[in-house]
Amino acid sequence: MKVTRVQIIARGLANRCPNCGAKTLFRADSLFQVNKECSACGFTIERNNDEGFYLGSASLNYGMTIVLYLVPVALLWYFNVLGGRTAAVLAAVGAIGFPILFYRSSRSWWLMNYYLAFPHHLPANGGKGRAGEDDNV
Ligand SMILES: [Zn+2]
Repeated sequence: MKVTRVQIIARGLANRCPNCGAKTLFRADSLFQVNKECSACGFTIERNNDEGFYLGSASLNYGMTIVLYLVPVALLWYFNVLGGRTAAVLAAVGAIGFPILFYRSSRSWWLMNYYLAFPHHLPANGGKGRAGEDDNV
């Protein structure tokens, strides 16, 4: 395999194309819009024929907001580091702000998760970019 799982993780954490490693996942003129394909290698990023693929990234974003932000705020309140009002304001602001800040990473991490499970689907590894008819997964 040309692209290893370690490379897939490194590229996923850096919001880079899982296939070639170029910084092409997101459009240059937008914070939130994903490119249809990688301009460096032609890898299909936006999956028009695979509806719902990125729903998983929304779930991932929701989970990370709870685990990385809301639970720590709740623990700081529970152990009396933060007052009740401060914790409530931080929770409300973070519940909206964290998912916005984490949006790009959630998209990239979702792609990373997929190709960690199915590295042979990457075009650089001889795949079609997604599950094919000869693949029973
Ligand atoms: Zn690429």
